[in-house]
Amino acid sequence: MIGVGDMVLLEPLSEDSFLENLRNRFDHNEIYTYIGSVVISMNPYRSLPIFTPDKVEEYRNRNFYELSPHIYALADEAYRSLRDQDKDQCILITGESGAGKTEASKLVMSYVAAVCGKGQEVNKVKEQLLQSNPVLEAFGNAKTVRNDNSSRFGKYMDIEFDFKGDPLGGVISNYLLEKSRVVKQPRGERNFHIFYQLLSGASEDTLKKLKLDRDFSKYNYLSLDSAAVNGLDDAANFRTVRNAMQIVGFMEDEVQSVLELVAAVLKLGNIEFKHESRCNGTDESRIKDKNDLKEMCELLGIEQSVLERAFSYRTVEAKMEKVSTTLNVAQAQTKARHKVMGVLDIYGFEIFEDNSFEQFIINYCNEKLQQIFIELTLREEQEEYVREGIEWTNIEYFNNAIICDLIENNQNGILAMLDEECLRPGTVTDETFLDKLNTICAEHQHFESRLSKNSKFLTDHSLPHNCFRIQHYAGKVLYRVEGFVDKNNDLLYRDLSQAMYKANHSLIKQLFPEGNPAKVNLKRPPTAGSQFKTSVGTLMKNLQTKNPNYIRCIKPNDKKASHIFTDSLVRHQVRYLGLMENVRVRRAGYAFRQAYEPCLERYKMLCKNTWPHWRGPAREGVEVLMADLQVPAEEFSYGRSKIFIRNPRTLFFLEERRRQ
Ligand code: ATP
Ligand code: MG
Repeated sequence: MIGVGDMVLLEPLSEDSFLENLRNRFDHNEIYTYIGSVVISMNPYRSLPIFTPDKVEEYRNRNFYELSPHIYALADEAYRSLRDQDKDQCILITGESGAGKTEASKLVMSYVAAVCGKGQEVNKVKEQLLQSNPVLEAFGNAKTVRNDNSSRFGKYMDIEFDFKGDPLGGVISNYLLEKSRVVKQPRGERNFHIFYQLLSGASEDTLKKLKLDRDFSKYNYLSLDSAAVNGLDDAANFRTVRNAMQIVGFMEDEVQSVLELVAAVLKLGNIEFKHESRCNGTDESRIKDKNDLKEMCELLGIEQSVLERAFSYRTVEAKMEKVSTTLNVAQAQTKARHKVMGVLDIYGFEIFEDNSFEQFIINYCNEKLQQIFIELTLREEQEEYVREGIEWTNIEYFNNAIICDLIENNQNGILAMLDEECLRPGTVTDETFLDKLNTICAEHQHFESRLSKNSKFLTDHSLPHNCFRIQHYAGKVLYRVEGFVDKNNDLLYRDLSQAMYKANHSLIKQLFPEGNPAKVNLKRPPTAGSQFKTSVGTLMKNLQTKNPNYIRCIKPNDKKASHIFTDSLVRHQVRYLGLMENVRVRRAGYAFRQAYEPCLERYKMLCKNTWPHWRGPAREGVEVLMADLQVPAEEFSYGRSKIFIRNPRTLFFLEERRRQ
């Protein structure tokens, strides 16, 4: 074993020793390390021979601690508890961009697919589940400076199983797709993969039907300088995606509709406007060259004059949103209760030079995940103690509920104040929002209320005039308010949705139900912030009902390179993921526990009364063993099926003796 496989057993425990252990293991190709049952995963940035069918066999039906740490061990444990103990599971994968979350989610899914039932129907469902990935990635992933295949949305997938543990299908929810990328990409980044895939991989015939040109440079939305990505074959990926769409269940005409939409977006990007002064002195915007508009209308079956009018009256830029659509590949629902395994692949805590509304929302989501982590980890510990008949010891930990409250409280939480500002008549700007925040928080400070006592809303004189600062569980973050109001409003003007609804194109019609004139709804649509709050709330409720399994992904360097471990970068992530706290919580009660059989198996050689064969019950064997080794009684407790060891030192002692 290289270093320590479980950080709970690290001695002495400090941030430095934690990092040293990670580095040591990483240098020896050990990318996985545990904190109890939590898996830390380091991105190797190269393919390691540890994901083979042989490895799957090795980890299948084995106990968590028997083999060296691996993501397969976690997947196996989760799948077996689901199948044999009927406990719904969720797998929570977090980490920053490029840390390997999406790859980890795919490894978990492919492991489960490999070990669950076989048979024609089941295999078809498995294929559908696995093939949902290329489809989602084509439309939701893009090359960014941090990751050549960065997911620009959060994803939660519930995989449903029948009573035998065979998969029935899945339900996918997306969160906060970065819509703005369609219109504008940061320097050195690309638009969503599908645009390049379509232009590179479609046949001449298809392109002709879609009125497209293979040349990226013909399209304003496809930034030229970064069009080619090393190691990414857009043309081949297009075939993969088309094939995957078919497997997932798209009919041929539906695929066609989707591609028409993609083509229409490219055309839309080429439409340019010019200002024209009218004789009454007002300005009007007019479309410069109408060919793209004409082609776009042909693709979507919209009358040109209708769209032209809608465009000229308002200009709209797409912004981020929470997408509540679910892509349902589940087979016909039956009344029987299904077992469910949820897999969450969602953006980690973000702290940039410049943090805006997006970071605020993402970090809020991470606060909620941290809260659920605390709640569930402690709950799980507590439940296990009760199950095993062990006395519960209180664990000291930082509860971040106050930060969640600061953001989401219905009366004076930051999101509520932002909404209030967005709905208020009169001149509303980002500055008026900030004033409000500062006033209300200052007022609270005056009355020594919730906000001040815990002072997670930080005010100090070094703060730039257009910023506010929050003390998140993972660190302080400075947010610049510019754009908060606009992004939270996220309005699509009615004339546009109505124009789209008039399209003679079934997909487009479905995408703009609010454009149906028979259903004109004068109520203001919910803001982006409150939509997100609602969907995060629903997600948390869902997760709470399940048994959690954690994968914490870490990026070893900023260069997308193998073999490089940048200390400062990893340290930063260890902090933001709250990993030290995680170890402390885990060590506060009983650091280590093991069922009697494997415990006896492992240590029976240390005692002549148990070696080589113990003929009684395993628990009694372990009792004889501990007495013989003179382990102090306060160091351990006997549970119903497991021994609980309080201090890692006891375990070292046992391990040491084994090695002698
Ligand atoms: P984002 O938040 O931007 O979506 P992410 O955490 O999902 O990032 P991934 O896309 O999973 O990151 O990983 C980034 C890249 O790192 C992958 O495209 C792959 O090249 C490499 N990588 C990640 N995990 C592994 C692994 N287990 N083995 C080999 N390479 C990996
Ligand atoms: Mg990803």
